[in-house]
Amino acid sequence: MITNTENKKILYIDMDGVVANFEKGIKQYLPEWDSLTDEQKGEKTDEICGNATNFFLDLHPIEGAIDTIHKLSSIFETYFLSAAMWNVPQSYTEKRLWIEKHFGNSFRKRLILTHRKDLNIGDYLIDDRTAHGAGKFSGKHIHFGSEEFPDWSSVEKFLIN
Ligand SMILES: [Mg+2]
Repeated sequence: MITNTENKKILYIDMDGVVANFEKGIKQYLPEWDSLTDEQKGEKTDEICGNATNFFLDLHPIEGAIDTIHKLSSIFETYFLSAAMWNVPQSYTEKRLWIEKHFGNSFRKRLILTHRKDLNIGDYLIDDRTAHGAGKFSGKHIHFGSEEFPDWSSVEKFLIN
């Protein structure tokens, strides 16, 4: 395991689908979301997120995320590790603003936006997908939404106990 100078383990947390409820947000514009193919989802996402005002900033937090992340951040050196939407440039700014909106200054300068999550070195990555290098992360990938980690209480139990 890799540790930093504070001797804390390093934890990365994805945003969409893990702390920010992207699915609930997109379904407000596109109720038929669940029935679309991945290709259709990709096309529609660019269109909707690009045209909506503050799409990313207005996403609701996922249940349990804020409280658990506050607890985890006292134990782990914690960063958000998210892939913003290249075709939606405002998503880069809104992700930064979303963190301030929900965490105040607690995560100041702790946001990393990348499409190669595997290049970040650390112990744990909480991510709901394997895309953008998450599945190749060299530490442990905590697959949020899987049978093993369906919600934040299961993640908390795993990381804190
Ligand atoms: Mg995600």
